[in-house]
Amino acid sequence: MKCTTCEKKAVIERIYEGRALCKDHFLKSVEKTISKTIRDNNLLKRGEHIAVGFSGGKDSSMLLHTLKKLSKARALKISAILVDEGIKNYRDVSIPDAKKFCENLGIKLHIVSFKKGIGKTLDDMVTKNKDKTLKGCTYCGVFRRKLINEKAREIGADKVAIGHNLDDEVQSIMANYLRGDILRGSRIGAKAFVAEDKKFVPRIKPLRDVPEKECALYCILKGFNVDFGECPYASESFRWSVRDVVNDLEEKYPGTKFSILRTFDRILPAIQKTAKTKGKIEKCTSCNEPTSRAICKACELKKLIQ
Ligand code: SF4
Repeated sequence: MKCTTCEKKAVIERIYEGRALCKDHFLKSVEKTISKTIRDNNLLKRGEHIAVGFSGGKDSSMLLHTLKKLSKARALKISAILVDEGIKNYRDVSIPDAKKFCENLGIKLHIVSFKKGIGKTLDDMVTKNKDKTLKGCTYCGVFRRKLINEKAREIGADKVAIGHNLDDEVQSIMANYLRGDILRGSRIGAKAFVAEDKKFVPRIKPLRDVPEKECALYCILKGFNVDFGECPYASESFRWSVRDVVNDLEEKYPGTKFSILRTFDRILPAIQKTAKTKGKIEKCTSCNEPTSRAICKACELKKLIQ
């Protein structure tokens, strides 16, 4: 197969847009997509300090690399925050390479851990919790968001950039839709601004228009030493089942993922309007962090693992 643009050997056939691309045109095309997402959604302002939620996996490595590339022209300061959840034989083995990746890019890496910040590793939370129906990802998502937000605030970051790709966004849309969770659905988008409160560092998602497979291919072609392993808790999550259904649909009907995302973006303003009227921001009575509930989700989960 040849590149539709230059006739060189193609490295990918994008069935969803009917063209094949060689290595150079693929890499350029992905970077153009990311720049467009940033521009169209006004994600970055000149001189900002951006903290990247970094795990050493393909998505966050690609994000860190592309933001670093953009940082000179936009006078951005880039930092990385890695959360060590305490997942044996998974996170512990990937941290040395993650450190090396940041070192090579000349980016300061801040490491925070569940053990220090929450009091227990994720492995301990899962095995010793009081509610056996809760899965690893439930604890992980809430505590990771909390620790990244706190560290970003501490280092004076203006925004947190996370490596959510197209597949992640579509899975979130479908999972929230299936759960009927309107409030949570309002946080999906290129600017995942939970609420306007100075304690929340706004979150941005520059990779949301790049399919997961293309993030992986980008890292392979760039020769990044990234961790392609799956977290041992991933397959237990509801999101995992949603992922299978969406991938199956994409296989049969190419373009389904983009179609789900674009349709959602059209109705997002209405969802956000509803969420605004229903989700008033208060202070958690336990930790004083902003929340739309009397006790925030992190404090509620902490009680279950004591
Ligand atoms: Fe955390 Fe779940 Fe992701 Fe594993 S798959 S890192 S438990 S959110």
